[in-house]
Amino acid sequence: MHTMKGSNEMPERCAECGAVLPAGRTCQSIFDECLGLEMANPAYYGQVHMLTVACFMIQHGRYSDEARNWIATQIQDHLNGVPVQYIRQRAAGGVKQANRSWQIMREAGAAPQPRVDWSITMVDIVPSLQDASLYCNQIERWARATVDEMKAIN
Ligand SMILES: [Zn+2]
Repeated sequence: MHTMKGSNEMPERCAECGAVLPAGRTCQSIFDECLGLEMANPAYYGQVHMLTVACFMIQHGRYSDEARNWIATQIQDHLNGVPVQYIRQRAAGGVKQANRSWQIMREAGAAPQPRVDWSITMVDIVPSLQDASLYCNQIERWARATVDEMKAIN
């Protein structure tokens, strides 16, 4: 009996968010593609920049628990119509290191963030990379789902 090499292998998954990865891509490489589009087209793709970064960081366990909760509140407010400029001002004022006792980034020795079975991941953004309005809609859907589903680990 000959089995084709690889036929029994599980699809490759992101170790951090659990997404099934398309061949040749990782969440990080997709994230980098998104940032490239957002930098090159700030008026179109760039409108959702805050959401892209926050969702990637939340789903990949990069934030401390305190920072994750803080940013989730900002995402929720932004999705409810608070302009991103106002959120930037809050970020510049409210979370200055001098005014908080917590770190933004999860510390290297900290327990990993509990796993969440995210319904939308970085990989689900790939089909909308070619179209700015599809892209923005999809990033917003991702943000809503991420904020909703992270309640499971709070
Ligand atoms: Zn991932």
